[in-house]
Amino acid sequence: MKMSFVDALKEDSWDALRAAPKVDLHCHAYFSTRRHNLEARLGCRLDPPPEKMNKLGGMIVYAMDVLDPHLRNRETIEFVAESALRDAIGDGVVMMEISFDIRRAAYYEDGLTGVVGHLRELVSRFQPQIELRPELGIPRQAASDPKLMSRAHEAIGLGFFQSIDLYDHQEACEPEDVESLYAEAKAAGMKLKAHVGEFGGAEEVRRTVELLELDEVQHGIGAAESVEVMRWLAGNGIRLNVCPTSNVMLDAVPDMASHPIRLLFENGVPVTVNSDDPMIFDQSVTDEYRNLYRAGVFSADELDEIRRASLKGVVNRVANCPEL
Ligand SMILES: [Zn+2]
Repeated sequence: MKMSFVDALKEDSWDALRAAPKVDLHCHAYFSTRRHNLEARLGCRLDPPPEKMNKLGGMIVYAMDVLDPHLRNRETIEFVAESALRDAIGDGVVMMEISFDIRRAAYYEDGLTGVVGHLRELVSRFQPQIELRPELGIPRQAASDPKLMSRAHEAIGLGFFQSIDLYDHQEACEPEDVESLYAEAKAAGMKLKAHVGEFGGAEEVRRTVELLELDEVQHGIGAAESVEVMRWLAGNGIRLNVCPTSNVMLDAVPDMASHPIRLLFENGVPVTVNSDDPMIFDQSVTDEYRNLYRAGVFSADELDEIRRASLKGVVNRVANCPEL
């Protein structure tokens, strides 16, 4: 008989944990496959990141020094996205909202048309095993780059991307700077997400959610400093897509055991468990469930509740997924 997810956590059965259906709602395509896959393709070793990086700046230093020089061509970024889907399928992920940065268009002679052409092909090729929902990724610095902003508007107009996300250095733009872009995405029926509260506080989370009318928040863990903001998020059903190892390695939280996802959950905020940048943090979604269990953050039943809630509304095209 098939082992349940709860028993798989308790008995630390890796195969049963991986086999359980999951989603990944917070993953950036550029760094989306595990480092060993890129090493195998390149035929060389890539230095791992330090265990603790100093916030986003520290991560960018590592990524620019070690990873980025190998990624700056169309063939490799396409390989990374395809390899990420194979990783996710092997990890039991049945639906993935993966963000494709607007700057990706620079690698194609025909710009966004080329990006979307490749993504359409991926969606249909992997469709029997995983539901890929392409997300439009906007770095905050695009707000002060008219060419990138015009490309972002163009991308929304294509009607292809199902959601939008905003990320990178918080100080690069205020939410007001992308208000019209988000209004346009909302009118196009896209799900609205943004990175906020990764390092910043609860009020910043609330202000950004209100101003951009976000449906979901990437990270958002800063909300845990305010019971009022947590209740507000819970009352409005705003889900936080959390990436535990990313938060620990970037020193947003001191260690796994004290991760505020526990407090958010206790206060009724909907949370999910996700990978962020597997090439950097070297964790799959299954790893992250296991990490939270082993650190004593959640019981096995609580993690199963979080997992099941994340699967609600996922259109199941996966044949061997009877649980859904
Ligand atoms: Zn992220």
